[in-house]
Amino acid sequence: MDVEHREVIIVGAGPAGTTCAQRLAEDGIDVLILERREIIGNPAQCGECIPNWGEVVGTFSGLDDHQWLKDSFDFPDRIQLHRLDHMRVFLPSGKAYHFDLDAFAGHRLQFDGYLAEKAVSAGAEIRMSEPVLNIKRRSKSNSLLIVTENSRYTCDLLIDGSGSLAHVSRFLHGKNKAYRPDDQVPTAYAQVRGKVPETFDVFLGSVAPKGYAWIIPKGPDTANVGLGVRAGALKGSIKEHLKKFCDDLNLEILSFGGGWIPMGGPVKTMVDQNVIAIGDAAGLVMPSNGGGISQAMISGCFAAEAYLEFKQHQTPLTSYQDRVEACFGRALKNSLRSKNMGYLMFQSDFITEVLLRILGPIGGIKRAMECDKPLWVL
Ligand SMILES: Cc1cc2nc3c(=O)[nH]c(=O)nc-3n(C[C@H](O)[C@H](O)[C@H](O)COP(=O)(O)OP(=O)(O)OC[C@H]3O[C@@H](n4cnc5c(N)ncnc54)[C@H](O)[C@@H]3O)c2cc1C
Repeated sequence: MDVEHREVIIVGAGPAGTTCAQRLAEDGIDVLILERREIIGNPAQCGECIPNWGEVVGTFSGLDDHQWLKDSFDFPDRIQLHRLDHMRVFLPSGKAYHFDLDAFAGHRLQFDGYLAEKAVSAGAEIRMSEPVLNIKRRSKSNSLLIVTENSRYTCDLLIDGSGSLAHVSRFLHGKNKAYRPDDQVPTAYAQVRGKVPETFDVFLGSVAPKGYAWIIPKGPDTANVGLGVRAGALKGSIKEHLKKFCDDLNLEILSFGGGWIPMGGPVKTMVDQNVIAIGDAAGLVMPSNGGGISQAMISGCFAAEAYLEFKQHQTPLTSYQDRVEACFGRALKNSLRSKNMGYLMFQSDFITEVLLRILGPIGGIKRAMECDKPLWVL
């Protein structure tokens, strides 16, 4: 079989991969995305809450002057189905704490498709239905051989945008924890129809032990409703629990979905010679709330810019990880701390209720959701 050489190969056409491809292609770099799905963004594995730029700059550091990213978060109206400017967090008793949000609900199918279109318009190529089946680093030449069902490829730079299970790192490093995201949290969600709230609602307690349930409205009578729980914390099938949650709320289920969210924080090694991990593959999801779309897009852009810097000024590719840590480090550290506190303290509905009634009035729940320190000092 012939081996095709491309300058940059990206595995995965999620928000991380397509944003990276767009940024590279705009600077004239030859870039190919290999995507295993037949349709980009389908099936969705998401609650479909997409943050606006205001939320992003309020959470992460050093982004205010990044015009390219700012423009990338200027999403067209057609993909913004419902404004989410308010969040309610419900305790087991039904008492709720409210706070502001700057986000919208969309369909990931449309959202991911929109990002992919921009990458292709910039000159990137995407090959669909082309799962990467293996990757080998050839010891003599130290080059990478990427094997798909139909083809074999080599490249100068390989980007792992394959999502939570980080397939590129799996092929190259097996279970080595230094390269792969940890604490994979199982989730299930349903697209529903019925009487849904206006607000992004979160439910804590036995409904989702050591995790949370969500209702994210997508329109006047449709929503994405889901559950994410710590692996092993829920007896029985998560889908059955979700079904009961929807039945109790009298919501008609139109379809089910699910996926894994890596909640263990950033991976230790994001740059391995000429391989860079971005988005979920780099463990950049916020552990206290499961959000990862904005970090996927931003890290994709940072990886592209690290490569451009490397080409122009021989700056080591490891500058990518330094930049990711400078931007996300504080928020992800606080978020991980909140999640670990939740794992430790939320042992029953009673304890959860008592602790949240202490944290709520002093703004601790809001700060945990926004990736600040829940107790100011802790
Ligand atoms: C149930 C659930 C709810 C969530 N809700 C939200 C939310 O509301 N808001 C939010 O911000 N975040 C949410 N997240 C997290 C968010 O979905 C991710 O952080 C985001 O999609 C990460 O983008 P990515 O590009 O890194 O990976 P992905 O979007 O997962 O894209 C990875 C791509 O790689 C492809 N791929 C994988 N393996 C291969 C292979 N071997 N060969 C070729 N292609 C491959 C996949 O098909 C996929 O298209 C949620 C996650 C889940 C599971």
